[in-house]
Amino acid sequence: MNDTTQDEGPDAGSQGRPTTAVVVGGGLAGTTAALALADAGIRVTLLEGRPRLGGLAFSFQRDGLTVDNGQHVYLRCCTAYRWFLDRVEGAALAPLQDRLDVPVLDAEAPAGRRLGRIGRTALPVPLHLARSLATYPHLSLAERAKVGRAALALKGLDLADPALDAQSFGSWLAAHGQSERTIEALWDLVGVATLNAVAGDSSLGLAAMVFKTGLLSDPGAADIGWARVPLGELHDRLARKALDSAGVRTEVRTRVTSISQHENGRWSVQVPGETLDADTVVLAVPQREAHDLLPAGALDAPERLLEIGTAPILNIHVVYDRKVLSRPFFAALGSPVQWVFDRTEASGLKEGQYLALSQSAAQDEIDTPVAALRERYLPELERLLPHTRDAEVRDFFVTRERTATFAPTPGVGRLRPGARTKAPGLYLAGAWTATGWPATMESAVRSGVSAADAALTALGRPRDHLFELFEEAA
Ligand SMILES: Cc1cc2nc3c(=O)[nH]c(=O)nc-3n(C[C@H](O)[C@H](O)[C@H](O)COP(=O)(O)OP(=O)(O)OC[C@H]3O[C@@H](n4cnc5c(N)ncnc54)[C@H](O)[C@@H]3O)c2cc1C
Repeated sequence: MNDTTQDEGPDAGSQGRPTTAVVVGGGLAGTTAALALADAGIRVTLLEGRPRLGGLAFSFQRDGLTVDNGQHVYLRCCTAYRWFLDRVEGAALAPLQDRLDVPVLDAEAPAGRRLGRIGRTALPVPLHLARSLATYPHLSLAERAKVGRAALALKGLDLADPALDAQSFGSWLAAHGQSERTIEALWDLVGVATLNAVAGDSSLGLAAMVFKTGLLSDPGAADIGWARVPLGELHDRLARKALDSAGVRTEVRTRVTSISQHENGRWSVQVPGETLDADTVVLAVPQREAHDLLPAGALDAPERLLEIGTAPILNIHVVYDRKVLSRPFFAALGSPVQWVFDRTEASGLKEGQYLALSQSAAQDEIDTPVAALRERYLPELERLLPHTRDAEVRDFFVTRERTATFAPTPGVGRLRPGARTKAPGLYLAGAWTATGWPATMESAVRSGVSAADAALTALGRPRDHLFELFEEAA
């Protein structure tokens, strides 16, 4: 450590040396933080332990197919993730539906009533869902009327009330007249996919946030978007291109082993064979890794990070020799199958059809052997999709993400720290930090923006208009 560095204040750039930042973790949170800091004129190095960017949302090659580790969707109300897509010039590759339309197939319904839809009209909220609810065949008339009343009660909840986090969504739904069937056929159909937990295991605060923002804010808020290309194309290749053009030095296969602060306030980031010095560090790694890397005193109660649970997602991939599904996706009821997506084009499959089954809150099956999953799920697909009965299965494999998301259990809100730590110049990002959102791509991007915002404010740098964009949308 020399005298010159000791004398430098936080915005060293004003003293002739460029202000520098190291971002640790190249998932969506870290990539976002790196882009936002670089856009504000900071010299940024992004360090990622794995051989690629994208974190939990990535692609890999298998027998000539490009496979996503798990099907990902987002909603029109995900303004931060949409900003990210624009920023990496990938928005056209992951378009939104013109209008929310989710086909819901009930494997157990009598013939003729098997297909229902959750959709919207252009009417103002909450009337935009009224027609869909009125004609939803998977609930009785009385159940549908009660859904309407519960939705209005949900709309009235104050998301800023901390008491919501301590309560379970399931108990709130039961107290508002929702039958087990209604929870299964409607609330969990949406909630399990977005929260990665059934209503009984979810915080009311997080569930209310999802339903209020997605279904009860703006008529188009829940229109669904998904990548028509492999996730790696967006989160790795295009992200890398955007980072390069922004002047970010990106190093993959570079695992950070420790972070420490000098007496002069600057930071040292240790990777095998190199020490990087920086004015600012953004730690955008999962909560357990963040706990292990945080220097002493950076958080009041760092052990709380270890109390944040995790929840698994299983994806089941089936390649048929012919087309068996004519829609881009559907959700299922009366079957262990949850959501099914056609990934044929995105994967590069030339013949036949490739379906990905996205199974959230998969605690019971995350370790089930492939053969047992095959025995269970192929007959289920035959029940739901008659054309599969004559089709040959060319490939069947699974991807297991044991720590896909943080568990949105009641009480999790008080465990999630914000972007600022007690150590000046050190910030946290990650879908698990206190964004108000469940563990989603939206939460990850928001957290990256918050961390960059906090860092730039401390450095006395002008904040980019992008931060206001989110504030308006929030
Ligand atoms: C199967 C699956 C399905 C999902 N479906 C959806 C969906 O439909 N919609 C949705 O919005 N979200 C979905 N999610 C959640 C979403 O993918 C995550 O919330 C988001 O990608 C998390 O991003 P992140 O940057 O916060 O964390 P991560 O993606 O975990 O990134 C952290 C990065 O830090 C790196 N790292 C860790 N330690 C170090 C170290 N010491 N040094 C350097 N690098 C390190 C890791 O390798 C990783 O790349 C899904 C997740 C999974 C797994």
